[in-house]
Amino acid sequence: MSGCISVINSGSSSIKFSLFDQIEQEEMRLIFSGQIEGIGTAPKFKAKDGDGLVIDEKQFEQGASSGHEHLMEELIDWIRARRLELGLELRGVGHRVVHGGPFYSRPVKVDDQVLAELEQFIVLAPLHQPHNLSSIRTILQMSGDIEQVACFDTAFHRTNPPEAQTFALPYELSEEGVRRYGFHGLSYEYIARRLPELAPELANGRVIVAHLGNGVSMCGLNIGVSVASTMGFSAMDGLVMGTRPGNLDPGVVLYLLQEKQMSGDEIADLLYKRSGLLGISGISNDMRVLLASEDPRAKEAIEIFVYRIGREIGSLTAALGGLDGLIFTAGIGEHSPEIRQRVCDVASWLGIELDEAANGRGETLISRPQSKIAVMVIPTNEELMIATHTRDVLLGDVTV
Ligand code: ADP
Repeated sequence: MSGCISVINSGSSSIKFSLFDQIEQEEMRLIFSGQIEGIGTAPKFKAKDGDGLVIDEKQFEQGASSGHEHLMEELIDWIRARRLELGLELRGVGHRVVHGGPFYSRPVKVDDQVLAELEQFIVLAPLHQPHNLSSIRTILQMSGDIEQVACFDTAFHRTNPPEAQTFALPYELSEEGVRRYGFHGLSYEYIARRLPELAPELANGRVIVAHLGNGVSMCGLNIGVSVASTMGFSAMDGLVMGTRPGNLDPGVVLYLLQEKQMSGDEIADLLYKRSGLLGISGISNDMRVLLASEDPRAKEAIEIFVYRIGREIGSLTAALGGLDGLIFTAGIGEHSPEIRQRVCDVASWLGIELDEAANGRGETLISRPQSKIAVMVIPTNEELMIATHTRDVLLGDVTV
């Protein structure tokens, strides 16, 4: 039987999954991927093969059988049945784990001790970490001999210099873990690994990667190493996102608490679910809907989204000591020529010259030859990054 690796990305209301084979080759092959959405309300399961064709779909009943743990068990059984049909042996499961705390700078094989350590970071990421870890625990309970690897969204940024990671707060708070971590690390790491293949010279330079999806952040890479990120203590900091505000004066939170008498839970709900593009526009968190809308508030939401990216490009350029390249990735970055154009317009002072036709076609290189900054579109692949890490941790680096 040839080996395969499964990837699980477990969130508060969804579980995404995939399976890769050809694990002895540098780039593994996607066999299937899918997700269970609407956990807690009306869970729906959908799986597609490596070419994107739907291979299975079902709706779960609401009630006891729609909880996270039960759905995870069903999913593991479904994956097992499929891979046995295909004659594949499971070598391990890789998990996206949002928080690796101050010290985990690389993926790690999970045992009871590691799991206990990762549980300490639940307070740092209460909306994501519990779900990430509960999937690991469910698999441990179902079948303790399956090897599991935790891949962290924070790990890639542990190379940031101390001054980029420390808040100007009393030092004891920093020692207890109140510091800047940065997120989307698996996406940035994938881009950092892909760049030398696509643009070897640029890979040795100073690059800003703009991960513009539902979650939005940017990262400064110097020779492929993260030196700064727009996200900080939580995945709420930095840029305007679908439903999160990004950078916010802490005085606003005090105002909500003290003057508006809002509770912690109400503020968390406001900042995680009702702000960002949705909050400004009052229409949608989906960039496609806003781009198609004539509503002035939709236009204003996009305006603010782009303005803040422009300002942070300046900040990251300063942290990098100059700039050689700008890379767009994730849903909006990969698919919206209009947003790419507008971001390049606000950053034109850097000497960016966009090739509008190449941008419209979504080519890999979208800047003109004379542009001082190379601008590229590189699709991210966090699942493949997790599968690669899992393979490397469990089997050693098997590629030659
Ligand atoms: P997630 O962070 O959940 O992985 P994605 O990276 O898939 O999200 O990005 C989702 C975002 O990408 C949504 O705001 C969606 O509107 C946007 N998006 C996807 N396709 C397009 C498109 N063609 N034009 C503009 N925005 C798009």
